Amino acid sequence: MAEKKERFWDTGLHFSCTACGNCCQLDGGKVFLTEDEVNRAAEYLGMSIDEFIATYIRAIVEQESYVLRDGEKDCCIFLEDQKCNIYPVRPMQCRTFPFWPENVKSLYRWKIVAEDCPGIGQGRLYTAEEINDVLKNRKTVEQVSEEGLTNLYD
Ligand code: SF4
Ligand code: SF4
Repeated sequence: MAEKKERFWDTGLHFSCTACGNCCQLDGGKVFLTEDEVNRAAEYLGMSIDEFIATYIRAIVEQESYVLRDGEKDCCIFLEDQKCNIYPVRPMQCRTFPFWPENVKSLYRWKIVAEDCPGIGQGRLYTAEEINDVLKNRKTVEQVSEEGLTNLYD
């Protein structure tokens, strides 16, 4: 049987979002939405889907993935005063940051991400199992975090 490959996050990673908004203005970053996420965001803003797409979407990839337009200075178009204007319905991509596959593929990469994300290395310990759940989109960062709080007060 093949030996299990060790990952630098096997003993967990500390993370607690400081709501700094840096991840909403990553240079050259793209925000992808699924069709469901477009529908939810349009409904949240009280717009028709066509109006939402015409206003906020810059590209549709293979008819199933939508890319947001950039706002000013390469920020996400929904970032205003360091806050997300569609926060309750923001896409899974945003809900799972910084636990993206490309960010946890090596400690080197994780440290680079940490230069822009002050929440890395702070607060709650995400176990390897919890990180896996976020990576596989079974859970969001908040869901894991809330469970941690629940356990704390059990
Ligand atoms: S960069 Fe990190 S700490 Fe700042 S808002 Fe994004 S996830 Fe939170
Ligand atoms: S949708 Fe909201 S959370 Fe996601 S990048 Fe834009 S401003 Fe940030």
